[in-house]
Amino acid sequence: MSANVIDGKAVAAEVKERVAEDVRRFSAERDGDVPGLATVLVGEDPASQIYIASKRRQTEEVGMRSFHHQLGEGTPTEEGLDVVRQLNDEDTVDGILVQLPLPDQVDQDEVISTISPAKDVDGLTAVSAGLLAQGRPGLVPCTPQGVIELLRHAGTEIEGAEAVILGRSILVGRPLSALLLGENATVTVCHSRTRELAAVCSRADILVAAVGSPRLVTAEMVKPGATVIDVGTNRTDDGLVGDVDFDPVSEIAGAITPVPGGVGPMTIAMLLANTVAAASRRPQ
Ligand code: NAP
Repeated sequence: MSANVIDGKAVAAEVKERVAEDVRRFSAERDGDVPGLATVLVGEDPASQIYIASKRRQTEEVGMRSFHHQLGEGTPTEEGLDVVRQLNDEDTVDGILVQLPLPDQVDQDEVISTISPAKDVDGLTAVSAGLLAQGRPGLVPCTPQGVIELLRHAGTEIEGAEAVILGRSILVGRPLSALLLGENATVTVCHSRTRELAAVCSRADILVAAVGSPRLVTAEMVKPGATVIDVGTNRTDDGLVGDVDFDPVSEIAGAITPVPGGVGPMTIAMLLANTVAAASRRPQ
């Protein structure tokens, strides 16, 4: 069997088209006003600069306003907090994205928890995480939301499925477990201390790898016909590879995401969707 390869670029393009339509409707209802996304970058990490440039470009492509705040490498926590507080008070800003990781001297938890939950388009504040954990409406982290979109697009039945997630970070594994639970999957979350990892994975109808370990998931760990979603992005001598050993696993799986071109493009698309959703809750 050869798996259906899920085209994340195509699904992301569909999401962005929907967002652009929502922006046009928002603008028509609000005298030409458009939603705004503020990005904050501390330091000059080359990978972060590329991510921010892409986020800003795509924000403008869907018709929203992009505001950028570049802070120096040595920025202290208090200065970062001041910028976030200003953005919280700024009416034209609907979403605030602080690019992670922050340099060591900056208290990342404090910066994130200062973002107004109404503008938390990355879904990383404790308020957003708590709402998600309780199954209540709120802003949801972008990558896990993108995973759900990909599963829907692939036609994978989530309700009643055995879903196994590798990784329990607040960015991916934990929020994804809440989303899958909300969709009535039976969810298992694995981590570095999980015993018999291969046996647990081989029960999965839906297997999501979010570890950051190149080709950790091998064909023996995959149930025939399973949907395999690879969140991992690992830079190796062979280029960018995921957490899944793609070629052999695609012989076993029913559907699979590639790296690159799978989950990656979805993350920015869902950020844009979160921004327009946050804007639509802004009082008129
Ligand atoms: P993270 O914070 O480093 O978390 C990694 C998780 O993997 C931890 O929970 C860790 O367990 C677990 N783990 C480590 N070794 C394991 C093993 N052998 N078996 C099972 N679990 C193991 O990473 P993250 O931020 O969630 O990111 C994970 C990967 O996704 C990275 O490659 C990252 O680059 C990628 N990513 C991609 C996107 C995208 O848009 N495509 C977005 C976000 C992240 P412990 O908790 O026990 O340490």
